[in-house]
Amino acid sequence: MQSQIISRSEHPISRKNIHPDALKVLYRLGRKGFTAYLVGGGVRDLLLGLKPKDFDISTNATPTQIRRTFQNCFLIGRRFRLAHIRFGDNIIETSTFRRCPDSNDDSEDGDLYVFQDNCYGTPEEDALRRDFTINGLFYEVKNFTIIDHVGGINDIHHGLVRSIGDPNIRFQEDPVRMIRAIRFASRLDFHIEPATYNAILRHHSQILKASPPRVFEELHKLFAYGSGEKAVRLLYKTGLLHDLLPELADFLDHNHGQDSVLWDWLVQLDHKTLHEDKTNPVLIFSTLFSAPIKQVMAHHEARGGRVILMDILGNVLLPICLRMSMPKAMAARMLQVMANQSRFVPDKRKRFSKRGFVAQDCFPETLALYDISLRVDGQDTRQTGQWKALRQELEQKNQIISPEPKERKRPPRKRRPGRTRV
Ligand code: ATP
Ligand code: MG
Repeated sequence: MQSQIISRSEHPISRKNIHPDALKVLYRLGRKGFTAYLVGGGVRDLLLGLKPKDFDISTNATPTQIRRTFQNCFLIGRRFRLAHIRFGDNIIETSTFRRCPDSNDDSEDGDLYVFQDNCYGTPEEDALRRDFTINGLFYEVKNFTIIDHVGGINDIHHGLVRSIGDPNIRFQEDPVRMIRAIRFASRLDFHIEPATYNAILRHHSQILKASPPRVFEELHKLFAYGSGEKAVRLLYKTGLLHDLLPELADFLDHNHGQDSVLWDWLVQLDHKTLHEDKTNPVLIFSTLFSAPIKQVMAHHEARGGRVILMDILGNVLLPICLRMSMPKAMAARMLQVMANQSRFVPDKRKRFSKRGFVAQDCFPETLALYDISLRVDGQDTRQTGQWKALRQELEQKNQIISPEPKERKRPPRKRRPGRTRV
């Protein structure tokens, strides 16, 4: 592929949209004689007129040279050292150009999974090791140009998520890229280019080779931009959902697939995310599993059994959460949030402390999930205002129950009689 340089008059990126801290890093590295570019999602989002979440920089300075250049620099990562340059709470991640490592293509079973990712390279090699063409663009602050080694500009204009290099190889090297393709397509409302899409259809089951915490992190990010419904539809269509969350895929297979009620839950979750501009993994995953869990409950009730929701959550949902590598405290909170749903319409036969319920640490997510469920059922949501008001009152009075168990003081050690300390 012929590299392309796009001059300032041919693209819309203006320095005033780049974070001043990122500009400081670019200029300082330049003054010290290094090459440094703004890279990745920052360039992509600026070209699309979106506000980037973060600004990443790539340079030919080695990690040690970067540390010498910035006092506020911390090196992280053992396999591949990255520099975090800190400005108060803001971190500018700065990495040395690296190249695509050789995959294990000489392994006996033809396994292409890459275990190492730590070889320095040229700027062009750095662009080629990235996942998608739209993420492989460089912005050069010295002359305000964009350098395109991968055909990213064209794909941005055509709204396409295209793998850099052969997607069949790139997805086997790192299967998490398949979830990332879905994230960018759903968030940006782009199409996945046909060869890239077909490679996902072919290799989706490889996702089971990826590290569960990384997969969990990427799954969570699918919901971060209010496009979770579209993302889960794509996971389902490509077969990834059957590998990652087979219980959810089964639920869809048996409940009208693309017309299932699950999509109504996700549409409401997306509305909330867009409206509140933040995500909460407890709310995300409890929304995702509400419809299937309600169905399991209804199934048990229809058989006349006495069902305790917390038992079903513990037996059915908890193993799924732990398999996904969800942190235990998060899983426990999620189960509590789901079990809490029945408490909005308290059982008159049981003792119920409204204040105790509202004072629970997880009440905000509990109420958010309840609000989503009311909307899914087409019910009036005005009552949620009263609950919110009571919560605010308790917060003002500092009456929220903390989830942390109080630190137990160690009992003082008893001195043995007859011994004196010298
Ligand atoms: P976001 O806006 O969601 O942060 P992003 O494109 O910046 O999107 P990051 O996960 O922050 O995504 O990664 C930064 C850049 O690093 C990407 O744009 C891409 O160039 C590269 N990258 C990240 N993950 C991979 C991967 N698995 N394989 C190859 N390149 C990757
Ligand atoms: Mg990023």
